[in-house]
Amino acid sequence: MSVSEGLSFVAPVPDGPWETFLATIDSVERYLGPLARFADTLRRPRRALIVDIPIEMDDGRIAHFEGYRVHHNLARGPGKGGVRYDAAVTLPEVMALAGWMTVKNAAVNLPFGGAKGGIRVDPKQLSRKELERLTRRYTSEIGFLIGPDRDIPAPDVNTDAQVMAWMMDTCSVNSGTSATGMVTGKPVALGGSLGRVDATGRGVHVIGREVARRVGMPLEGARVAVQGVGNVGAVAARLFARSGARIVALQDRGASIVNPEGIDLGAALAHKAASGSLGGCPGSETISAEAFWDVESEVLVPAALEGALTADRAARLRTRMVLEGANGPTTPSADRILGERGIVVVPDVIANAGGVIVSYFEWVQDFNSFFWTEDEVTHRMDHILAGAFEQIWHTADELGVALRTAAFVVACRRVLEAREQRGLYP
Ligand code: GLU
Repeated sequence: MSVSEGLSFVAPVPDGPWETFLATIDSVERYLGPLARFADTLRRPRRALIVDIPIEMDDGRIAHFEGYRVHHNLARGPGKGGVRYDAAVTLPEVMALAGWMTVKNAAVNLPFGGAKGGIRVDPKQLSRKELERLTRRYTSEIGFLIGPDRDIPAPDVNTDAQVMAWMMDTCSVNSGTSATGMVTGKPVALGGSLGRVDATGRGVHVIGREVARRVGMPLEGARVAVQGVGNVGAVAARLFARSGARIVALQDRGASIVNPEGIDLGAALAHKAASGSLGGCPGSETISAEAFWDVESEVLVPAALEGALTADRAARLRTRMVLEGANGPTTPSADRILGERGIVVVPDVIANAGGVIVSYFEWVQDFNSFFWTEDEVTHRMDHILAGAFEQIWHTADELGVALRTAAFVVACRRVLEAREQRGLYP
C-alpha cells in the first residue's frame, strides 16, 4: 500500500503519458518482491525544473518559451535522455519521458538514471538563428543540472546533431572548457560517435530480427508498416527493406501512403523531401490517416509520438508484432487489447533503446578521447540490445507476462536494488 501523497504540481490527464507510465509501474509492483517497498520512488520524479526562455526574434520582438528538464531517477548513475522541441510539450509529458528513460537505461543495463527535457515550441516557426538562440538560452538555464556526471542530454523529437553542437558550445563557453561529454548525439567532428544518427532505427530492426527468429517468421517477404519517417522510422524501414521485407505503408504528419507490392522507400523519402509530405508519392496510393491502421502487415512500427495506438486502432490492427520505435505510442487500453489478441508488442524501453546505447558509447569515447569505428559501434550495440532482449523474453516466459511487464520488471528490479543499496539520506 502506498503511504505517499500524490504529486501536487501536475493535474491528472486520463490516458496521458504520465498516467500511462504510472499504470505500468502499478502493473509490475507485484513482481518486485521486497523491493516493492521502494516502488513509490518510481512514481515521483527526483526533480523537475521549469524554465522561462526569453529570446529576441529576428524582427526585434521578444518571445518567451517554456522549457523543462526532469530528473526522474538517479539511483544507477547520471541522468540520461533527450531534449524535444514540440508545440505540445508539457511537464507531465517530459516526466513520463524521463521515467521511460530510467526504465530503458536499466532494461539494457546502462550505468545511467533517467532524464528528459523539452521546450514547448513549434521549431518550424523559428528561423535557424532563433532556434540557436532558443537552444543556447535553454542550455544556460538548465546548466546547473547537466554535466557528464550529472545529466547528459541528447537529441529527441525535432532536435538533432546541430542542436547538440549549440548545447555543447554553450556549456564550453560558459565553463571555459571543451565540454564534449556534456551531450551526446553531437556531430562527429565535435566528439560525436559514428553510428549515432542511425542507432535508434537500427535497434528497432535488431529487435524485429530477434522477435521474428523466436516466432519462426522470416523477415524476408514480411510486410512492414511504419508510422513516422523521421530519424527512427526511416532508418528502420530502410533496414527492414534491406532484409527483404516489403514496406507496405508509411505515414508522416501530413499523409499516409500504401502499396501492397512494396513502397520504393528512396523514392518516397525523396518525394517528401521535395514536396514536404509523403502525400501524392508516385507509385503508391494516398490513404486517410485512419486507414493506415487497417493496412495488413506482419510488422508495425509506430515511430512518431505518444498515444498514437489507441484502443480503437488496436482492435482493428491486422499485424503480428508491434515494435515501439516511438516513446509511449500505445495507450494502456490499447496495450490490453493487443495482449488479448495475441499480437506481440515490444515496448519502447527495449525496441528503441539502440539510440541511448550508442549515446552511452559516445559518452565513453569522449571520456577516453579514443574513438571507435562504425563497425565496432554497430556490433557492440547489437550485442547489448540482443542480450537485453533475450533476458526480457526469458522473464516474460518465466512470469507468464507481456514483454512490457517483463522489461519493466527487469529494469525496476535493477533501479530499486540500487535504491536499496544506497539507502535513504539522511
Ligand atoms: N531520445 C532518445 C530516447 O528517447 C535518446 C536518448 C539519449 O540518447 O540519451 O531514447
